[in-house]
Amino acid sequence: MEQGEEAILITGARRLLPGEGFGGEEPLFLRGGRIEPVPARLPRKVLVVDARGLAAAPALLDLHVHLREPGMEEAETIATGTQAAAAGGFGGVVAMPNTRPPMDRPERIRWLRDRAARTGVVTVWPVGCLTRERAGREPVVVEELAASGAVGFSDDGTTVADDGLMEEIMQRVREVGSRVLDHAQREVKGSGVVHAGEVARRLGLPGIPAEAETEVIACRLEQCRRTGCRLHIQHVSTAVGAQMIARARREGLPVSGEVTPHHLALCERDIREPDPDFKMNPPLRTEEDRAALVEAVQAGTLECLATDHAPHTDRAKRRGFREAPFGVVGLETAVGVTFTELVVKRGMAVGEWLARWVSGPRSVLGLPVPRLTEGEAADVVLLDLEREWVVRKAEFRSRGRNTPFEGWKLVGRAMMTVTGGRVSWRHPWLVEAGRWRRYGQGAVLR
Ligand SMILES: [Zn+2]
Repeated sequence: MEQGEEAILITGARRLLPGEGFGGEEPLFLRGGRIEPVPARLPRKVLVVDARGLAAAPALLDLHVHLREPGMEEAETIATGTQAAAAGGFGGVVAMPNTRPPMDRPERIRWLRDRAARTGVVTVWPVGCLTRERAGREPVVVEELAASGAVGFSDDGTTVADDGLMEEIMQRVREVGSRVLDHAQREVKGSGVVHAGEVARRLGLPGIPAEAETEVIACRLEQCRRTGCRLHIQHVSTAVGAQMIARARREGLPVSGEVTPHHLALCERDIREPDPDFKMNPPLRTEEDRAALVEAVQAGTLECLATDHAPHTDRAKRRGFREAPFGVVGLETAVGVTFTELVVKRGMAVGEWLARWVSGPRSVLGLPVPRLTEGEAADVVLLDLEREWVVRKAEFRSRGRNTPFEGWKLVGRAMMTVTGGRVSWRHPWLVEAGRWRRYGQGAVLR
């Protein structure tokens, strides 16, 4: 969108740091992809953003995104998916490997990284498959995939049904110092499509019981104990699952878990009719499960929020509730939904909310927590945490329109995202309100 070499000066924003909350309003100067001290004399060419009333925070990291490229480009591409991420305030996304072909070989991971470097506007962290072709039979060559840049291992979309094989892979993943991110949902016979509860009965749809999740989590935690492999449980949807992870963490096991915005904000009762934009795996559970997930995120026992952004074409979703594919988009509503649910409605500390999107996910990948200090990468988001806005899927940058939040009024929005020193997202308001000034040829700042 903008010239990479351009220097950027952000003035008037309140610093917002994960785990800490609001700080001062010192200006932030970005140049050459890094945060630098504000120079005594500004460079000849500089972009000045008047960010009074906004918060400047380290850009968010989404641990769970389906970019659909290669193979399903009509649903999403690396270009459109990363643009959606930037518009959502994310500086990086962790890309799930269930593409076509799947990310089960080093040359495919290298292809993805190369493609992301050329067409993506935020950092793409590729995850490699656990098994060849994601078929659950033969392990990938963990060492090769890790060496080619896979930051973790998952067969997301499914788990590995063969527990012995899974444990063998976890052993190898531990040996290379990487991590397993597990979908932790047993395949359900009879093709369940919603939670096995009151809504399944009312709508006459086949159900997915809570045990499809909790039995796998119980097994994985034992395998984590035996192998010492760093384990991350994806999209936890049940109260019991959250409790098991909390207990394992208290025992000191290297385990973490993520919750999606839709599992925090919605429960099975929100499925009033069989609308495929409310069909996802794991499904929306009970109100008690939802409340327990909110508590676990607030307490930090589930230390990560992640979208499970899963774009599908309208054509695929229009096949009807039973036949439509699982999944909803989430990148562009993540900040609004989680800030509204956790901070506005429940009074969660804003620094803790941010930590679930920054420090939690980064610790899963073994990355340091950014503090907006000199020398750090210029990965910054400007947030308007007072802005009320209405979700309009027609305005998404994502190709996916499959959101359960259409028409929702939310509080909190990313107004500008800078990734590696480049502007990857700018809300039109910044220009309309005269907050966006570009100076060139040594013009004098007033
Ligand atoms: Zn999944």
